[in-house]
Amino acid sequence: MDFSTSPATEQLLERIRDFLVRHVLPREAEILRRGFGESEPQLQQLRAEVKAEGLWGPQLPVELGGLGLSLVDHGLVSEVLGYSPLGHYLFGCQAPDAGNIEILEKYGTPEQRARYLAPLAAGEIRSCFAMTEPDSAGSNPVLLTCAARLDGDSYVIDGRKWFTSSADGAAFSIVMAITDPEAEGHGRATMIIVPTDTPGFRLVRNIPIFGHAGSGYDSHAEIAFEGCRVPASNRLGQEGAGFIIAQERLGPGRIHHCMRWLGICRRAFDMLCTRANRRVIAPGKRLAEKQIIQSWVAECQAKIEAARLLTLHAAWTIDNRGFQAAREEVSLIKFYVAEVLGEVLDRSIQTHGALGITDDTVLSFFYTRERGARIYDGPDEVHKMVVARRILKRY
Ligand SMILES: Cc1cc2nc3c(=O)[nH]c(=O)nc-3n(C[C@H](O)[C@H](O)[C@H](O)COP(=O)(O)OP(=O)(O)OC[C@H]3O[C@@H](n4cnc5c(N)ncnc54)[C@H](O)[C@@H]3O)c2cc1C
Repeated sequence: MDFSTSPATEQLLERIRDFLVRHVLPREAEILRRGFGESEPQLQQLRAEVKAEGLWGPQLPVELGGLGLSLVDHGLVSEVLGYSPLGHYLFGCQAPDAGNIEILEKYGTPEQRARYLAPLAAGEIRSCFAMTEPDSAGSNPVLLTCAARLDGDSYVIDGRKWFTSSADGAAFSIVMAITDPEAEGHGRATMIIVPTDTPGFRLVRNIPIFGHAGSGYDSHAEIAFEGCRVPASNRLGQEGAGFIIAQERLGPGRIHHCMRWLGICRRAFDMLCTRANRRVIAPGKRLAEKQIIQSWVAECQAKIEAARLLTLHAAWTIDNRGFQAAREEVSLIKFYVAEVLGEVLDRSIQTHGALGITDDTVLSFFYTRERGARIYDGPDEVHKMVVARRILKRY
């Protein structure tokens, strides 16, 4: 198997790295301190610079103004961008918009594409995806209760959602709602586009997470749908096709997340090694000379490399053989990379001592924001169960 990257991809990765180092990392601490909501003008300015450099939308098709990269190449870009918490947002490939763009592109009507997809892909508006509910287990979404009733030419939606990421400031939400309660489990739900200024769409709160409610893009909201009426033409895809579309949305999305997490791992690991080399713990002795730290360095490096190869192979399989052929690998990377991420962040924090848990480094931002990695897009335990069942069937 050939693991080399093409000269064109190498050159692109270098340009993106260079942009991050020159324009993003110097402004990162200030933007994170003020929050995404308040920093929006600065973020938009940086996005304009990304566009001017011709680097916008690595995963977007060329017709939508992007670079049209394959999943493997976008994975490599995603790893580089993951080095900064601002990376994906500034380059227009952030969740949940990236997933919403994919499904709008595949299932959107010409009107939906013009009204929602085009401005979303251009970064002029943001969106959110509302599936999980506070009162039913998100890991088994056939239990959803939020309902959409057809009334003449409209759907009327009633129910509650939460952990709707980035709803604060979003122009529209794609909502997963039950349209046929009598249908068999996976045929009950439909996706519907709901502009957030529709009467009956209420953002209840940004949910505080480890003490931070966040703002703008960096937030997770609780949403109430109260007799929320939208035209029936806002349905995305066929009625009852919600789960099929949701699965398609999650496939490439998991590769994007895993490669982003590997970028975070790389940042935390760089910080771990730098700190260990500099911190004097006794006259003439540095932390890096301690065997236990050396053991962490070696173990973290091995795990990051293993996770990276596993993820790139899953991306390669999807690119070359389609998503179905990669199902098992996608579940493997979803829990394995998330665990490696948690471990590397924790080791890096530990190496920094008290400094590691302050907001004086980016580690605490990553630690609090990324603990969710082991929960969203399917909790670890569910992916392990799926993989184990498939493996055991072979014996
Ligand atoms: C940071 C973050 C962002 C999110 N963004 C979005 C979003 O934008 N839109 C959206 O709709 N949702 C979003 N979610 C919600 C996410 O999809 C759900 O949290 C996830 O599906 C799990 O559902 P739950 O929280 O209801 O946990 P539950 O389903 O109640 O599960 C709780 C725990 O039980 C265990 N468990 C569950 N099932 C099994 C099983 N079969 N076997 C063994 N153990 C099991 C797991 O440990 C799991 O963590 C987000 C979540 C987080 C943390």
